[in-house]
Amino acid sequence: MTAGRDEFELIEALRTRFEAVDGPPRGGDLGIGDDSAVVTLPGAGQVVLATDLVVEGVHFDLGTSSPEDVGWKALMVTVSDLGAMGCAPSHALLSVAAPAGFPIERLGDGVAEAAAAAGCTVVGGDLSSGPVLVVSVTAVGPTPTGAPPLRRSGARPGDHLLVTGPLGSSAAGLRLLAGDGTAPVPAALAAAHRRPVARLREGWVARLAGATAAIDVSDGLTADVAHLATASAVGLDLVVGEGVMAVGATRDEALSGGEDYELVLATPDPDRLREAFSAQALRAPLDLGRCTDRPGVWLLDGEPLTDSGWRHRF
Ligand SMILES: [Mg+2]
Repeated sequence: MTAGRDEFELIEALRTRFEAVDGPPRGGDLGIGDDSAVVTLPGAGQVVLATDLVVEGVHFDLGTSSPEDVGWKALMVTVSDLGAMGCAPSHALLSVAAPAGFPIERLGDGVAEAAAAAGCTVVGGDLSSGPVLVVSVTAVGPTPTGAPPLRRSGARPGDHLLVTGPLGSSAAGLRLLAGDGTAPVPAALAAAHRRPVARLREGWVARLAGATAAIDVSDGLTADVAHLATASAVGLDLVVGEGVMAVGATRDEALSGGEDYELVLATPDPDRLREAFSAQALRAPLDLGRCTDRPGVWLLDGEPLTDSGWRHRF
């Protein structure tokens, strides 16, 4: 009986199954369990790669997103996982399953626009007919120099946690777009839902400025920061002030709405991080609290943290 298992249990079961073949990754490689994989190609060095998919009725609705928006989002959510490692994509593959009559070229326009913004080239993929629209993007990039890719597991007790931008705007945008149409939808909130932007430069700069760990906010702040804390074996003392909440978002949307694609960063030296962001004309990162030496003890504004983020169930 497998019904009711959540995606994280299943990912762990699959990791165990796949690693039973060749053992866990070696030599600085990284397998299942982080935002991206890091693999050594014999004779060609290390690359960073990630894949993601978006499904009609689960991740988007064609009543609130255009075909171009769906293409943009599919590309951006994948490259966001490279950004969370402080890496950048060079190439991408696009796979689409779509019902008869769906304007795949318009979806391709959105993918192309996002790929240009992310600095990568789409070099292949696959098309299939299907009962609903499903779009998957796989992205790859070189392992960067200067500092190794950022992992979820690198945070240490005492590290400060920061986030690259306010949270909750995507969830607020979806709420308003899916409403009865009587409430005006601020353009910034609609864009946050339809056209999220991967924080590639922020991840890159953070990696070079001494960040110890990172994750992108896809499932929701509380869920994603919990992944980082678990992987790093640290406790959490989170402080989510007004400044971390996007204008127009509820507190619940900021904490657990997800799909913001901002980066949560850990660092022992937040001033160095702030200075590096300022030097690159990036938005100042926002304080989220600290990592502690009490693994499993997660506090939000002094109260036990409830992980209320999104998870798929099977
Ligand atoms: Mg991620």
